[in-house]
Amino acid sequence: MRVVIALGGNALGNNPSEQREAIGNASKMVADLIEEGYEVILAHGNGPQVGMIQNCMPSQISLSACVSMSQAYIGLDMQNLLREELYNRGIYKTVVSVITQVSVEEEDSAFLNPTKPIGHFMTEEEARELARAGEHVMEDAGRGYRKVVASPKPVDIVEIQAIRNLVDNGNVVIACGGGGVPVVKKGNRLEKVDSVIDKDFASARLAELLDADFLVLLTGVERVAVNYAKPDQKWLSQITVEEAREYIRQGQFAPGSMLPKIEAAMEFSMSKAGRKTLITMLERASAGIHGGTGTVVVA
Ligand code: ADP
Ligand code: MG
Repeated sequence: MRVVIALGGNALGNNPSEQREAIGNASKMVADLIEEGYEVILAHGNGPQVGMIQNCMPSQISLSACVSMSQAYIGLDMQNLLREELYNRGIYKTVVSVITQVSVEEEDSAFLNPTKPIGHFMTEEEARELARAGEHVMEDAGRGYRKVVASPKPVDIVEIQAIRNLVDNGNVVIACGGGGVPVVKKGNRLEKVDSVIDKDFASARLAELLDADFLVLLTGVERVAVNYAKPDQKWLSQITVEEAREYIRQGQFAPGSMLPKIEAAMEFSMSKAGRKTLITMLERASAGIHGGTGTVVVA
């Protein structure tokens, strides 16, 4: 069983020690799966982290360069902590992150309409100030205001063949961190573009291209809900792609947070018979993967 597990950037904490704690916990869960015989590939988000890195950088450093730094910042903790967890169990595998570039269409309409929240949450007052300074800001799923950037759809994973070789040879690979560094293909040249690809879409693409059976999107909620955060909220345990399509039509999933997960889940679950996607929280991942909780999206 090959499984791609994507850890949500918002579930990775807001500082280095919270991040190590979250990744330490995730490593136990991943090591359990590897012990059980699962072939695990890891991906991760970077919303809060890429915003934090960008804030520390001089303005000449592009957002795409910040995405690559977030792959190293998060990937290194994953390599280090998962390796330790595996070695403690006598499993001597190499855990390796691949700086991943993901190609996007230059004409993607997302460049005209920024929807992807990055960085920390702000008050309405702070958001207004940033907007006056020319930045795009948006309310993020009832949790406060955040800066938003363009989020084009992934087309190709540039390093996919190398990733596949590493996986096929028994290494534990971390790829498509933060959705991958967005690039536009210009002949043989790959040009970086200032945007952040949603890791949900990039992970779905990664799972498809690696012929995975199972995609797991770990985030801040145990289950997906309809009428989310309203008095008549209802948690979903399994939905079909067709039901998901109807819920999207009703506007049940917030753009920039739950909507990309649902769309990515639909894409992967439809891509080949037998493939399915689980959405749950990091702390419930093990139970979810064994069928005990979360929301499963099936074809
Ligand atoms: P990640 O960093 O894991 O990608 P996001 O913050 O982008 O996490 O998206 C997950 C969040 O989406 C949840 O924590 C929740 O606050 C929000 N959300 C929006 N709509 C829904 C919904 N219908 N059901 C559950 N969660 C929702
Ligand atoms: Mg997200």
